[in-house]
Amino acid sequence: MKISFEIKDKDIAGRIGKLEIENEHNGTKKCIETPALMPVYNVNNPVVSIEELKDKFNTKILMTNAYILLKSHKEKVIEEGIHKFLNFDGIIAVDSGSYQLMEYGSIDISNKEILKFEESIKAEIGSFLDIPTLPDAYKKIADENLTETLKRAKEAKELNLNLIINAAIQGGTFIDLRAKAAKEISKNFELNAIGGIVRLMEEYRFDELINIIVNVKKNIKASNVVHAFGLGHPMIFGLAVALGCDIFDSAAYALFAKDKRYITNYGTKKISELEYLPCSCPVCHNKNPNDLDEHDIALHNLYVSYEEIRKVKQAIKENNLWEYIEMRAISHPNLYKAVKALKKHRKFLSQFDPITKRSAFFDFGFDIRTEIYNVKKRIKNVNVGKDDFVKVGIFGNVPKQILDMYPFNAFGIKSDASDEEKIKTIMQYQFGKDADKILDKFNLIIKRSKNTKRIRWIYDSKTKELIASVRAQDHFIIPHKKLGEELHKFFKFPKLRVVISDEAVPFVKEGRNVFAKFITNIDKNLRAGEECLVVDKQDNLIATGTLLLAPIECMSFKRGVAVRVRK
Ligand SMILES: [Zn+2]
Repeated sequence: MKISFEIKDKDIAGRIGKLEIENEHNGTKKCIETPALMPVYNVNNPVVSIEELKDKFNTKILMTNAYILLKSHKEKVIEEGIHKFLNFDGIIAVDSGSYQLMEYGSIDISNKEILKFEESIKAEIGSFLDIPTLPDAYKKIADENLTETLKRAKEAKELNLNLIINAAIQGGTFIDLRAKAAKEISKNFELNAIGGIVRLMEEYRFDELINIIVNVKKNIKASNVVHAFGLGHPMIFGLAVALGCDIFDSAAYALFAKDKRYITNYGTKKISELEYLPCSCPVCHNKNPNDLDEHDIALHNLYVSYEEIRKVKQAIKENNLWEYIEMRAISHPNLYKAVKALKKHRKFLSQFDPITKRSAFFDFGFDIRTEIYNVKKRIKNVNVGKDDFVKVGIFGNVPKQILDMYPFNAFGIKSDASDEEKIKTIMQYQFGKDADKILDKFNLIIKRSKNTKRIRWIYDSKTKELIASVRAQDHFIIPHKKLGEELHKFFKFPKLRVVISDEAVPFVKEGRNVFAKFITNIDKNLRAGEECLVVDKQDNLIATGTLLLAPIECMSFKRGVAVRVRK
């Protein structure tokens, strides 16, 4: 089995991804879009049937338990294969029995046996028998568990099975252990599961949860697929996606239904507490709380879980994931606290976050936002008078010359700066210190759009050449050929550069986009969404374009477009 993953769209450290699993043995390819929900199907006690998962939810990936299959259906499932056995031809992930191990203290099967069984039933994704550590365990125990888990991970790797291993990263709430686990696991496995976090979710210990996720992300490859193991509550999906989680499994929909607990995307209610149903899903729309049985509640719980995944994906598409998280944050004080605590991770997250967004910036007063970090760093490059600064919401002092740009343009503050002052200051803000000096070579003519009355084009009157345009939506400067050449001359390597391998040069010269796998080096101060210079290894300028990924992603991903080249 071969896994490949690429980013289709992004916001903060969240991504809409294309995850493909290829079975090299029979040539089949299965593909899902992430973030994805992976419902857990209990073979012996299914609350929601496979047919319902397919028909009602269009489920393309699910998880089931290999240990249960082994104990109660071994021969049949080996003979038929898991897909026929379940009548499901999507991606099937199997859990190893770690849960049973945690519940009962021991199980009668070895790591090797369960892994070989997982391969024999032809699941796409398997798990080794990791040892989960509960959040409040002593460090000594967490450490011992982790040592054993890493030993089993190594064994799984060495077996070289036809199976994608969903490799668990354990370590309890101890950040150093998590970091060690993440580094070790990330080296050998492309699908990484953050394990041992269910209790934190159930107890609403969201700040500890995000600390673990961020720490794992800091220590794994950016291109690894991240499974938040057991994180099945929709109220946390937005936040977890923003930190870079890609897959969520949900046993919660069924477990909660068993206790008559009704999931909403802002928390959980006991069905007996409800006078009205706050939902219009196909189950709830014409019913009262008393009408709902376990099966109904399980279906409803799944409807809201899938719905939340779609909403989060739409927020990524619109680039307003921050606003979405902030909105969710006020549904529970612990979530609010956790979101506020993201401030300490702002620097880390800012390297992933696009520099400009499709939606206007909404300031709800949260000082956590990655834009604050990125913006303040750039304002330092700008050379303007002391009196030119105006207060702009959570950003504090901002030069009046750049108020038309994202994110400041959302604040509606008028600027009396001249067009030339604006363009010169945007050059410094966008490309770096003294970048305005490049414009001294030209006889600038700045033209405004007839429709919007905003600055739109920059010409050189000497040559009548259009040297740059200014994007209406965010007021970023888009350099055309001549300005690209001057930027390349003015700034020394590697500033603004994306370096590509020789084999990609002829294609990019023809105007083809740059794929991540051809990038050999990149200016790490660039941000997704900004204009960059594509160069070869000798620093010859090949093209200009828009960077679509963060530098750290460019250096890690083997698939997908990284620079949209300007024709
Ligand atoms: Zn409902």
